[in-house]
Amino acid sequence: MPRWGMVIDLDKCNGCQACEVACRSENNIAVGGPQAAGESRTISWMRVQTEVEGEWPNLRARFVPQPCMHCDRPPCTLVCPVQATSRDSEGIISQIYARCIGCRYCANACPYTVKYFNWRRPSYPGSTVAGLNPDVSLRPVGVIEKCTFCHHRLQKARDVARAEKRPLREADYVPACSESCPTGAIVFGDLDDPDHRVAQLARDPRAFRLHEDLGTQPKVYYLAEQD
Ligand code: SF4
Ligand code: SF4
Repeated sequence: MPRWGMVIDLDKCNGCQACEVACRSENNIAVGGPQAAGESRTISWMRVQTEVEGEWPNLRARFVPQPCMHCDRPPCTLVCPVQATSRDSEGIISQIYARCIGCRYCANACPYTVKYFNWRRPSYPGSTVAGLNPDVSLRPVGVIEKCTFCHHRLQKARDVARAEKRPLREADYVPACSESCPTGAIVFGDLDDPDHRVAQLARDPRAFRLHEDLGTQPKVYYLAEQD
């Protein structure tokens, strides 16, 4: 059984936000507009954070892409009163929109603040409607959404592999953010398969996880910058 995860190399990320744009397009993430931005209610399943260190003029910036960490011990699933979010057998944390009652307990329990509430009915202006991805369901107002590791791509890849009577290969299932990154900063795969690049990188001496001390066991690793 695979355990899907990601490694993000901070030395390679240049902050271009191609991953954010690809994620938005792939997953039908509604454009909130100026009002949502003004209220800090923009939805972005992949969020490239900018961190600045030092004192002027000796400043150093780093870019930290942050999707859902798909924690192996996720606090968000524990507090959901209706099991609208849960960990599947391959470690992906899912959201069932039709079950969500909008209590936002999970969003408050997530230490990484990567769950987003639909405060308004999502809208898709003009020509963007034609570009919606039919593989990803639209979310209604009043529910939580977040990164799914592009789970729909896994289902498709499995169907193709089955039709071709062969096992799933490493390159078959790649989330949109990883596929679109021009510098190859985002590597995805099975953390428990020693042949997968992601498994090797997760054991690199530079590898670390955010808020490891909380015991959430995130499956998104980062490679620290080298001086
Ligand atoms: S696409 Fe790659 S380089 Fe660009 S912001 Fe995302 S992770 Fe960084
Ligand atoms: S990062 Fe947050 S939303 Fe994602 S699994 Fe962990 S606790 Fe849940």
